[in-house]
Amino acid sequence: MTVAVLGAGVAGLVAGCELTSLGYDVRLIEADSRVGGRICTHHFRCACGNAYGELGAMRIPGSHKCTLRYIEEANLQSRLIPFRGVFTEPNGIIDFSGRVTRVREVRGATPRPDSIDDRRLAYLTDIRVVVHAVCPLRLRHHYDTIVEPLVVQLLDTFHNDDIDTPSSRLHAFRRLAPFLRQVDDRFRAVVDDILLELGEEIYTLRGGLSLLTESLAHRLGSRIKRNVSVTEIDCTGDVAEISLQDSSGGASVLKADRIICTIPFSVLRRIPISGLPERQIRRVRTLPYSPASKTLLHCRTRFWEQGGIRGGGSVNDRWIRQVFYPDSESSRSSCYCGVLLASYAIGDDALRLANLEEQERQSLIKEELARFHPQIALPNMILSWKTMDWSEHRFSRGAYASAWVDNHIPFDSSQDPVSGQLLTFAGEHCSSLGGWIEGAIQSALTCVAEVAGVRL
Ligand SMILES: Cc1cc2nc3c(=O)[nH]c(=O)nc-3n(C[C@H](O)[C@H](O)[C@H](O)COP(=O)(O)OP(=O)(O)OC[C@H]3O[C@@H](n4cnc5c(N)ncnc54)[C@H](O)[C@@H]3O)c2cc1C
Repeated sequence: MTVAVLGAGVAGLVAGCELTSLGYDVRLIEADSRVGGRICTHHFRCACGNAYGELGAMRIPGSHKCTLRYIEEANLQSRLIPFRGVFTEPNGIIDFSGRVTRVREVRGATPRPDSIDDRRLAYLTDIRVVVHAVCPLRLRHHYDTIVEPLVVQLLDTFHNDDIDTPSSRLHAFRRLAPFLRQVDDRFRAVVDDILLELGEEIYTLRGGLSLLTESLAHRLGSRIKRNVSVTEIDCTGDVAEISLQDSSGGASVLKADRIICTIPFSVLRRIPISGLPERQIRRVRTLPYSPASKTLLHCRTRFWEQGGIRGGGSVNDRWIRQVFYPDSESSRSSCYCGVLLASYAIGDDALRLANLEEQERQSLIKEELARFHPQIALPNMILSWKTMDWSEHRFSRGAYASAWVDNHIPFDSSQDPVSGQLLTFAGEHCSSLGGWIEGAIQSALTCVAEVAGVRL
């Protein structure tokens, strides 16, 4: 039986590997010249060979067992290193409302609502800082104007022990999470992501996450056709027909008994598909995607280490949003250079950046960073730049099917299977863990199980 897997991101690669080992004749079609999709490690030219950063996924939570399993199968587990989030580096910077503070000093940096005691103010500050560090612009505004006054009222009902915690933002957030989940649909997913970020062990891969997708691709060898785009899908006959176009414009048709399509719906909605029920077509057309943008800077020196920053991150609520530093212990290179994730923005914050001309954006990022890292303005400090706007990328047209957008329901092809069972969908957008590698892998395994009639 021939199975065509469309898209060689992690979902397509996992589906391809599993089906191949079950004896299926697998053909993987990938429009880009590289595999991995939204797992995308960028390497800057440098003699040290260690100047890289992540333009797409970068974190692997310890609870993401499928992702960790494939890392182990690829013999990459010795490369797993802790990923340090924004609040893990006490010397990291919080640059909010025009005021630059260290993470360790941030308590007390929130305006005091009337009639609130010091304990409650400290608690409120923790919550506000976390929400402002993570949420995109409109959601931050919504929190400040609508949600925070409700939190202030709620605090009166809290026991002092709930507020006076031995540690931590995590405890504070856990106590409030059920309320935030209820108060607004968009907060439900944000709260889960915040809890995960604050509470879990999180890892990354030394050498870059693309090592995982490259290893999966290696197993598939010549079954992957790169630089070949799917231009049309026809599921009206006994076998599926997929129209393809290579990078020099050459057209061909691939026939397959089954298709597993992992192309993001943000791209798929521009590709004609026949034989799909109207309800599914509508879901493909309307599934919302969130934008995200990242800018990496290859810097001559790791100047942030002079300020005691050994990893983790900083946040700014103006333009650049989150800044991440390479971990000093695990990514030391033979030269002094370092790769700074100078800006990671999502949602409307990312769109504001994407609207700028490249030159304008670079000056702005430099200016914003100089607010707390003046060394960035030194001559020749920046060796090279690399920016990725995922909403502009022609094979993604968005960063993730967003649970942070109103009324998001993940796509579930089993609810409305295509007649004849020729076409099944996989990818992060089909899972309840949208926006995570884990969701993409789980959806792929579900499809493989359905095609092969086995449990994986
Ligand atoms: C900025 C950013 C940060 C992220 N951070 C994290 C993180 O820290 N941790 C985490 O777990 N996840 C993270 N994610 C999410 C994670 O990267 C994705 O969930 C996962 O990689 C999606 O895999 P996929 O296979 O579903 O889709 P993709 O990786 O998008 O794969 C789809 C493939 O289809 C190909 N394609 C598109 N159009 C065509 C066509 N016409 N013909 C043929 N092929 C086509 C694409 O080129 C691509 O290779 C992040 C994503 C982004 C964008």
